[in-house]
Amino acid sequence: MQEPTLEQIFGSYMAWKMDEGTWIISFMNGTENMYLLEGDEKALLIDTGYGAGNLRAFVEKLTDKPVLVANTHFHPDHAGGNGEFERVFVSPGWETDAPSVYGEGAVPFDLAKLPFADYEKITVGDGYIFELGGRKVEVLVAAPAHCNSSLFFLDREHRMLFTGDEYESAQTLMYDNSRNPEAPYNVKERLDNLKANGERLKGLEKSYDFLFPNHNGCPIAKEYLNQYIELVDGVYAGTAVIEDKLNHPFIERDEKASALCRVRWKNVSIFIRKDLLMTVYGK
Ligand SMILES: [Zn+2]
Repeated sequence: MQEPTLEQIFGSYMAWKMDEGTWIISFMNGTENMYLLEGDEKALLIDTGYGAGNLRAFVEKLTDKPVLVANTHFHPDHAGGNGEFERVFVSPGWETDAPSVYGEGAVPFDLAKLPFADYEKITVGDGYIFELGGRKVEVLVAAPAHCNSSLFFLDREHRMLFTGDEYESAQTLMYDNSRNPEAPYNVKERLDNLKANGERLKGLEKSYDFLFPNHNGCPIAKEYLNQYIELVDGVYAGTAVIEDKLNHPFIERDEKASALCRVRWKNVSIFIRKDLLMTVYGK
């Protein structure tokens, strides 16, 4: 049997329609999603994958509308393919996480070979609205928790909230993953932000029915936000459950994995550096 090519591994897409005008684009063997939101006049592509170079053609088969492109955050599996497009909307924090995309070996492709390698980055702030024609998508800037560059996207017409990697069904990665030695990382701040972002999104919960994260399946129930908030409280109370075994075949392969633990609360969990966690656990 022939080994699969990098393009087959990182650039095999499958799409299905969630509702009229909303496509889920699944890749990485179904473990990761991107989203395509169509309005009457334009479409918005949320995230661009690893940069295999074949996403734009795939997206243009799904929609005939002009496609705007935005990143949930500046990580290699979400922003790697930005250079297939002339311009991409990014968060104010993108530069802090940029080494995670552009660092050596960060992605399996030469991003300089993409057709718009020097694409324009347009920074969007809180409250920015993508007008797609009969469909508005509102930007909320996340306080740094999973990373330094997350945006949430709220689609009130279709009652969807896109949460990137900040809230997922299986686990949210809460250790420093910026590959940037200059990036600030304070464990208490990150946990406080995980809770504060969750409370902010909960305050808007009359506007959406489900959360749409980028990994491990979607949609997921709004209830996950409550559980993440409780998880943070459970860390400070010393009641959240710490597991030393990650039970994650991919992350376990990373040499840094031995420093991590899983902290569980009901259905949700986080991966975090255990030594740093213990400085705030039960305190
Ligand atoms: Zn991420």
